[in-house]
Amino acid sequence: MSRSLRSAAALAAAGLLPPARAEAAGAVEARYAVAVTPHVASLIAAPDDPIGLQYLPDPAELTTLPHETADPTADAPFTPVKGVVHRYPDRALLKPLLACPVYCRFCFRREHVGPEGGVLTEAELDAALAWFAATPAVREAILTGGDPLMLSPRRLGRILDALEAMPHIELLRIHSRVPVADPPLVTEALAAALRRGKPLILCVHANHAREFAGDAPAALARLHAAGAMLLGQSVLLSGVNDSEAALEELFRTMLRHRVKPYYLHQLDPAPGTARFHVPPRRGLALIAALRGRIPGHAIPHYVVERPGGGGKVPVGG
Ligand SMILES: *Cc1c(COP(=O)(O)O)cnc(C)c1O
Ligand code: SF4
Repeated sequence: MSRSLRSAAALAAAGLLPPARAEAAGAVEARYAVAVTPHVASLIAAPDDPIGLQYLPDPAELTTLPHETADPTADAPFTPVKGVVHRYPDRALLKPLLACPVYCRFCFRREHVGPEGGVLTEAELDAALAWFAATPAVREAILTGGDPLMLSPRRLGRILDALEAMPHIELLRIHSRVPVADPPLVTEALAAALRRGKPLILCVHANHAREFAGDAPAALARLHAAGAMLLGQSVLLSGVNDSEAALEELFRTMLRHRVKPYYLHQLDPAPGTARFHVPPRRGLALIAALRGRIPGHAIPHYVVERPGGGGKVPVGG
């Protein structure tokens, strides 16, 4: 991953951050990981455009507001064994690693993700898989992280083999930003590792139509050709997609690439993310404005994570 830019200074040298802002943002990288792939760098036209805002470190990240917390989705109390989160009876998360292709400035797991972060050891992975094997109520195994598509096809394939072999597991799901953040990682070998006898859902995290450029369409086509059902997951972000036009274009673009918009998340209050906050009332008005304007199937569920581990609920519902 050495081809990614991993510091404010490197981003300034590449012309993506103005030198003065790079200096002010230097302190951010000591606290939160920074990574911009060549694909993402090619999409950034200005530091505060909808792509730059998502990925370029900003000194505002150093200000934590009283209501912001390190574990906004409250995963910790729902962790029966390292790397597993079990909040709903019929589905559970498996986090095999905490590295990502890019580090989003609004990330709800920003206190936990990072390039050195959290690869489960073989013994920990075995223990996590043993938990799935011993928990027959779980019908869907959801790989997340970090980003599971950062794993080698071989390692990912072995995890999926083990889960698929469990009779009670009916569905496999992977949440990933790789197809739009580092599309060259979606090789034929990776796609082959995802080709399964049981249904596999690939939930692609994307927040702006412009992310579906360059090699991203080919990566999505390859995943679709491997038999994955493609869903889209987005976060409502001030300055990135908080307009009718931006959301319409995002959801229409997803569908053009066979990605069904699934969730639009209200931003979780992770530390130093206040500049991205969109009031729920504004989000509800945006969704209401899209009704009738775009097909019903193009409109995702607008959801918020209840504090204290209550899970996802419809905003205003
Ligand atoms: C979001 C989430 C899921 C998946 O929920 P869906 O509504 O099925 O997408 C599963 N487990 C946990 C802990 C989650 O936070
Ligand atoms: S890819 Fe996902 S987990 Fe990784 S930094 Fe971005 S939002 Fe966080």
